[in-house]
Amino acid sequence: MLHDSYGRQVEYLRLSVTDRCDLRCTYCMPEDFKGYEQTDDWLTFDEIERVVRAFAHLGVRRIRLTGGEPLLRGNLAGLAGRLSAIPGIADLSLSTNATHLAKNAQALHKAGISRLNVSLDTLNPARFAAITKREALASVLNGLMVASEIGFAPIKINMVVMAGVNDDEIDAMVAFCMQHGFILRMIETMPVGETGRNAGFVALAPIRERLRSRFGLVDGVVPGGGPARYLVSHDRRFQVGFITPMSQHFCETCNRVRLSVDGTLYTCLGQNDKVDVRIMLRAGCSDRELAAALIEGIERKPFKHEFKEAPDKVIRFMSSTGG
Ligand code: SAM
Ligand code: SF4
Repeated sequence: MLHDSYGRQVEYLRLSVTDRCDLRCTYCMPEDFKGYEQTDDWLTFDEIERVVRAFAHLGVRRIRLTGGEPLLRGNLAGLAGRLSAIPGIADLSLSTNATHLAKNAQALHKAGISRLNVSLDTLNPARFAAITKREALASVLNGLMVASEIGFAPIKINMVVMAGVNDDEIDAMVAFCMQHGFILRMIETMPVGETGRNAGFVALAPIRERLRSRFGLVDGVVPGGGPARYLVSHDRRFQVGFITPMSQHFCETCNRVRLSVDGTLYTCLGQNDKVDVRIMLRAGCSDRELAAALIEGIERKPFKHEFKEAPDKVIRFMSSTGG
């Protein structure tokens, strides 16, 4: 089992399969970003599978494929099939912007991905283009409808709420998610990279209380292993989650680490502590040495982020770490 020095068990790996993206969400990635990892430094599928086997052996049960935009990595369904077949991996999920979801959804579902998180901050095409710097809302909505028809469940919509950008659209997003049976999750912007620092932070607590009374919602629990706190309707058919890393952090229950596409294991999103897994793999480490490095790195997992105390600390962008 993987435990850190504060007694938290790590059982969830966020696995970035690319640092490229076809969108440029203002809070995530600079529009003119050029600092991509060399493709030679990307972990191969064989290397990823080896690392995930090592994690599974140490008690990790959940994997989320992420990026960058994971659907830009060739044959992602092939990788998903390999990972979902690893003994011990009970839950394989995907975070995507959904621009390429419609054509990939069937293969991904067959490969063992059942749960999806889709980023969607607005339902307004012009606003979507302003936030993401691309005109792709129609493809995203099409991807969502195809995925829903195929039977992905649950589908969670991640909405980053930004002051003066989309905070007037919350009720419209609630209505959209109610209509289609999606779980809505609102996210506070985090100062990850300079893009995150300039994103127009909005505290979610007042929004939560307004929605509670407007829609008659009550506190609820939704499975998934993440840090969101939920409100649900009385018949539980509608669920809305609030991810509040800034106003009410959840570090004391953190159960996750992140592996970036170049094989760097980050043990906290808001700190720079890391293990250079790729370098070990390519130096020919044994399985025992790999496991020892993971155990030791996770033992040193920092207690908490310092987004408030030291907002300039993390210079890497969310797309590079794997969100
Ligand atoms: N491209 C995929 C997507 O957008 O879902 C996966 C990667 S993306 C980095 C993962 C999540 O990180 C998205 O839900 C996105 O909204 C969130 N994110 C990116 N930058 C953020 C920031 N500065 N603060 C809060 N959330 C952020
Ligand atoms: Fe791309 Fe996702 Fe970042 Fe948007 S949030 S730029 S879709 S990686």
